[in-house]
Amino acid sequence: MAFDGLAERLQETFKKLRGKGKLTEKDIKDAMREVRLALLEADVNFKVVKSFVAKVSEKAMGSEVLESLTPGQQVVKIVHDELTALMGGAEAKLNFDPSITVFMLVGLQGAGKTTMAGKLALYLRKRNRKPLLAACDIYRPAAIKQLQVVGKQIDIPVFTLGDKTNPVDIAKAAMEYARKEGRDVVILDTAGRLHIDEALMLELKNIKSAVNPKEILLVVDSMTGQDAVNVAENFNTILDISGVIVTKLDGDTRGGAALSIREVTGKPIKFSGTGEKMSDIEVFHPERMAGRILGMGDVMSLIEKAQSAIDEKEARELGSRMMTKEFNFEDYMNAMAQMKKLGPLNKLLEMIPGMNSQEMKGLDLSDSEKEMAKTECIIQSMTQKERRNPKLLDNPSRKRRIAKGSGTTVQDVNKLLKGFENMKKMMKQMGSMQKNPKKGMFGK
Ligand code: GDP
Repeated sequence: MAFDGLAERLQETFKKLRGKGKLTEKDIKDAMREVRLALLEADVNFKVVKSFVAKVSEKAMGSEVLESLTPGQQVVKIVHDELTALMGGAEAKLNFDPSITVFMLVGLQGAGKTTMAGKLALYLRKRNRKPLLAACDIYRPAAIKQLQVVGKQIDIPVFTLGDKTNPVDIAKAAMEYARKEGRDVVILDTAGRLHIDEALMLELKNIKSAVNPKEILLVVDSMTGQDAVNVAENFNTILDISGVIVTKLDGDTRGGAALSIREVTGKPIKFSGTGEKMSDIEVFHPERMAGRILGMGDVMSLIEKAQSAIDEKEARELGSRMMTKEFNFEDYMNAMAQMKKLGPLNKLLEMIPGMNSQEMKGLDLSDSEKEMAKTECIIQSMTQKERRNPKLLDNPSRKRRIAKGSGTTVQDVNKLLKGFENMKKMMKQMGSMQKNPKKGMFGK
């Protein structure tokens, strides 16, 4: 994920500080030099680095730190607080109009606008809004089609007048359409260019005055580093944007843009894009991001992810079935499907405190994921009857058939059956413990 290099260097620096009982001014100066280099290497804007290090140094040199019993931790806290402030302090919320709200997405070509338009629409629908996507990019071949594909994928209507109508008129007509159809948020996907150009800026300004967007959100590709910062400055001067969305934070970007944009433009980062799927959108929380960079994990985001990905009712039903003796392979498949909605294991581990260390990163989780895929194949090769009644599998010819169908061996099938039986036994015990708390795990 983004910030890996920075996270590694900062954590290394602070490990050295934590190892010392008392800190001298020289220790802090050395650490600050390393912080400065780490930030510059992460492509953070040099002016931003300079003021950041000055602020941290001033606080770290204070007597509370030098005379404290845990000076290393105090320094980490100062850096954490300053990183949070650098990224905007508190979470910046979207603003809405009482009737129809317009969000205008702007940015260079390839930044991720169209993808983000879809993600944002899905995000809003989950919060009971009725979004409408509007295709205002009439220049890039296939841009309209791309938005239609996105809309179809998430079942959200897309307004278009083709590529022969002026984008200002499209935006106005989209508002009219939203009013008629009872949609309450219009998301405008506007054109981008490879570089900032006057004609485009004029067009965007005209759209802005025609439909008065509540938010003008600049979408920037975090992989572009310093350039993203320049782009943000330019767009902000001309359009007075209300916020920024950084995309592709899932890649191994150095993270500089995300750390510099707020300070340079004064505008908050409201969301981040963290993958190519429509659900890969996160509200940008400066404090949690600072925590992730410093290896403190991000349990809050993990919990929210679980809450939004997993259907609570389904999970509860599954939970109670797990504790009965009817629990079968169909339920097992459901449980696995719920788990998978949370995304790849390594992405989840990063959010758990202490799991973001370099040693953990070295772990090869692909084995666990391969094991899960194998289990799935085996279960898929069972008939519905077998899945519902695992006892039928006490039969060598069935086992052979399943092994063959799933490209595995009879041993693999046996291993799964045994694991399943053990799990069932444990679950049953837990179930009876819940009913009768005095009875221990081992029935005593
Ligand atoms: P636009 O020209 O600004 O509309 O950009 P697109 O929405 O077409 O995105 C350009 C490319 O970036 C596409 O291939 C997207 O799938 C990809 N993309 C967009 N957002 C993300 C993200 O958050 N993570 C990753 N990995 N890819 C993204």
